[in-house]
Amino acid sequence: MAKDTKVENAGYGMLIDYKYCTGCHSCEVSCQERFGMPAGEFGIKLSQNGPWDHGNDNWEWNWVPIPTQKCDLCADRRAAGKKALCEQHCQAFVITVGKLEDLVKQMDEGGKEQVLFNRTNDVAPLKARY
Ligand code: SF4
Ligand code: SF4
Repeated sequence: MAKDTKVENAGYGMLIDYKYCTGCHSCEVSCQERFGMPAGEFGIKLSQNGPWDHGNDNWEWNWVPIPTQKCDLCADRRAAGKKALCEQHCQAFVITVGKLEDLVKQMDEGGKEQVLFNRTNDVAPLKARY
C-alpha cells in the first residue's frame, strides 16, 4: 500500500518560473514514467498560452507546467536526498520543489513569470516505480 505523503509534504510546494520554459514536455514524460501512467494521465501537465498579438507586435506565448492531484512532490525521492524527477529533467531550471518559505524568497528575487503551488494538504498518494 502506498504511504501517505501528506506529512512529508507539510510546508512544501513547487515553484514554476516559466519564463524560459520551452514546452519540451520532459517534466510530463518523466513523471509519467515515474508512476507508469497510461497515456492521457499526468502528474504534471503543460498549459499553453498563445501565441497571439496583443497589438503593436506585443506577443503572448507562454508554456506553464501545472501539477495535478497525482503529484506527491516526489516525497520519497526528497527523503532520499534526491531532486524531484521533473525538476531533475528540466534543462531550463523552471521547476523547484522545496519548502514554501524558501520558495517565496526565491520568488521575490525572480521575475513576474512565476507561480507557486502549495501541495501541503492536497496529495493523492500513488505507488511510484522509481
Ligand atoms: S518545465 Fe522544463 S521540462 Fe517542463 S516543458 Fe518546460 S522546459 Fe520542458
Ligand atoms: S514532483 Fe514528482 S510527482 Fe510531482 S510532478 Fe514532479 S515528478 Fe511528478
